[in-house]
Amino acid sequence: MVLDKTVFYPESGGQPTDTGVLRTDEQEVAVLKVMKRGRDLFHHLDGNLPMYATVHGAIDWEPRYYNMRRHSAEHLLTGLFEMADAGPKVYSDLTRLDFKPSKITEEAVRRVEAEFNDIVGEDIPLSIYYASREELEDEEDEEDERKRGFLDKIPRALDRLRMVEIPGHALTFCFGTHVRSTGEIGRISEMFLKVGKKGTRTVHFTLK
Ligand SMILES: [Zn+2]
Repeated sequence: MVLDKTVFYPESGGQPTDTGVLRTDEQEVAVLKVMKRGRDLFHHLDGNLPMYATVHGAIDWEPRYYNMRRHSAEHLLTGLFEMADAGPKVYSDLTRLDFKPSKITEEAVRRVEAEFNDIVGEDIPLSIYYASREELEDEEDEEDERKRGFLDKIPRALDRLRMVEIPGHALTFCFGTHVRSTGEIGRISEMFLKVGKKGTRTVHFTLK
């Protein structure tokens, strides 16, 4: 089912789909997943609702909030590892970051972990704002090649990019869901380094 507007976040940008329910006065139907197809968001339902029905949507907050925390952690870790010269990040999700080529050491991982926990303690508000593609391209000199490549992949038609900044520590554009301040992310419970093939280093993390 496609709605004219929705509270559900679709599976995208490395973040999983929201689940929850859609309600009318008469019935309640579970939303199993939400997928993006072109411009439309398709709500996959466990049942049927009449066409043109007015519905009230509610997302399962607990898993969504956990995803927001882990995804925001991903931003902060990306920024901190960038500053620690970890090498180009080639992949990340809610549980890990891959760098390649990378020579990141166990010592650096422990340093980043300590910094991360300090920043969580400082409870720094995230700043979310829009910037035009031109503004970003003007800053290109300071950007590394990976970020430029990333920017090139965003459709040209999309001119306004949503910037997500953890002031002093991380800045990138992102259309995902985030917590309001670093305190909400919570401290690292476990973080470890795995040395992979061909210069890949993977950092796995879990939050408390
Ligand atoms: Zn994000």
